[in-house]
Amino acid sequence: MNFTYTENTPLAPYCSMKAGGYAKYLVLPKSESELLGAVGYFKEKNEKYIVVGNCSNLLFPDGLYDGAVIICTAVRGISEKDGFIEAYCGETLSSLARAACDASLTGLEFCYGIPGTIGGGVYMNAGAYGGELALAFVRGRFLSKNGEIVELTRDEMGFGYRKSIMQTEPLVLISATFKAEKGDKAEIRAQMDTLMAKRKASQPLEYPSCGSAFKRPEGHYAGALIEQCGLKGVSVGGAQVSVKHAGFVINAGNATATDVISLLTLVSDTVFEKTGVRLEPEIRIIK
Ligand SMILES: Cc1cc2nc3c(=O)[nH]c(=O)nc-3n(C[C@H](O)[C@H](O)[C@H](O)COP(=O)(O)OP(=O)(O)OC[C@H]3O[C@@H](n4cnc5c(N)ncnc54)[C@H](O)[C@@H]3O)c2cc1C
Repeated sequence: MNFTYTENTPLAPYCSMKAGGYAKYLVLPKSESELLGAVGYFKEKNEKYIVVGNCSNLLFPDGLYDGAVIICTAVRGISEKDGFIEAYCGETLSSLARAACDASLTGLEFCYGIPGTIGGGVYMNAGAYGGELALAFVRGRFLSKNGEIVELTRDEMGFGYRKSIMQTEPLVLISATFKAEKGDKAEIRAQMDTLMAKRKASQPLEYPSCGSAFKRPEGHYAGALIEQCGLKGVSVGGAQVSVKHAGFVINAGNATATDVISLLTLVSDTVFEKTGVRLEPEIRIIK
């Protein structure tokens, strides 16, 4: 065994919502080989496992996750050559934007400030301000369910709005390569700063959250619908619909995962009753 794990470990400190249960086993691999070792080990033992990134888009229900949670934030490494940037799964999306900027490459500025990793970003096809990872994705290196290392190109990724093949196939992303175009470093930097300022002005970054709680429904904005239904500021326990941005559910103080899940249901049901639009959570509730 080339990695270590802890047992019965609380997960809330690792999750951006600062809520949730605890893991039977928790692994923090520091390299590709530790990650592969951990997945292989728990598979062999017939233990349930999940590979995650910065836990900025997921919620572990209160109580026990009866298996191994493998958090990849220390599986790092990023390099650039001829406009191609290769990043390991635990690198942050902000590091990807910074690496592009350092090499005077444009097209990844939108990643700056999304608090996820490459693994979670590709899984979710993360996007903002008109950009999404699918547009820059060239290829990824994955561990397949048979334990083989496979490479998938963009066309094989099933990308859509907040969607990728990783949501339906048990693939573990090890690293991914992105392509960006030559640009002006000062302009790239300025665009990143502008987008970060927009985030700070519009999002409740002072509270724990998972970002946008709901996917954007076709033809609408989730936040606008929620506000229109009078749900701004509504809370269940410590979970609250942000007053600053109705599309965010925040942990306003000691929220449990159950509070958050109940509030998501309340909001979705109320919006459906009042507008006929069904909001689907963007936050992934882990089973
Ligand atoms: C304040 C705030 C702002 C946000 N703004 C945005 C935004 O502008 N745009 C946006 O799209 N999102 C946004 N998000 C949501 C979130 O940051 C993104 O969805 C991000 O891509 C999730 O990355 P993560 O590493 O945290 O993934 P996690 O939450 O850890 O995981 C998400 C999913 O990916 C899977 N996964 C993670 N790594 C791997 C891997 N290596 N292999 C296989 N599966 C893996 C997990 O199993 C899980 O199902 C925001 C969140 C917050 C808190």
